[in-house]
Amino acid sequence: MPSIAIHPSVDSGFKATDAAFSGGTLVCHCASNPVKVRVKGDIAHNHACGCSKCWKPDGAVFSVVAVAPSDNVEVLENGDKLAVVDPAALIQRHACKDCGVHLYGPVERDHPFKGLSFLHPELFQEEGWAKPGFAAFVSSIIESGYDPGKMDGVRARLKEVALEPYDCLNPGLMDYIATWTAKKNGVLPA
Ligand SMILES: [Zn+2]
Ligand SMILES: [Zn+2]
Repeated sequence: MPSIAIHPSVDSGFKATDAAFSGGTLVCHCASNPVKVRVKGDIAHNHACGCSKCWKPDGAVFSVVAVAPSDNVEVLENGDKLAVVDPAALIQRHACKDCGVHLYGPVERDHPFKGLSFLHPELFQEEGWAKPGFAAFVSSIIESGYDPGKMDGVRARLKEVALEPYDCLNPGLMDYIATWTAKKNGVLPA
């Protein structure tokens, strides 16, 4: 039985994580005049995401997405090719108008993730970034047309490659969001 495709960087085995990785340059897929975005410092919370809004390479069922502080993200070249995919969305995904790749997505609205930008580490021209640690929004792949009857196989495959499957975010991030909300509402001391 052929194994279930998750994402090229997952399916082909991870490159070793370099503990010294300190950021790099994200490059879109345009053959000429690519958009380049500099990320200072390491990324965090890298994970596979099954939502329908994250950018995925051709044929991938999941995206691979991480965050960095927005203050550490800077457009270096060809920023005039960027446009926000959905201005109403929490994550302001900046995509290249020519190739469709999402370069970075800051959260600017009042939210626990405010000040963070979502990005796709496979676009780094450098190697060594942290490998994905879990799979988020797994059930959401059905919303993009994935066969609901194959979900047991998808979850089994994710566990096989050490990406614990969750249908929202992982418990650490869900607790973080709930704590932020409880403090904002005065239920917990700020
Ligand atoms: Zn492009
Ligand atoms: Zn997503």
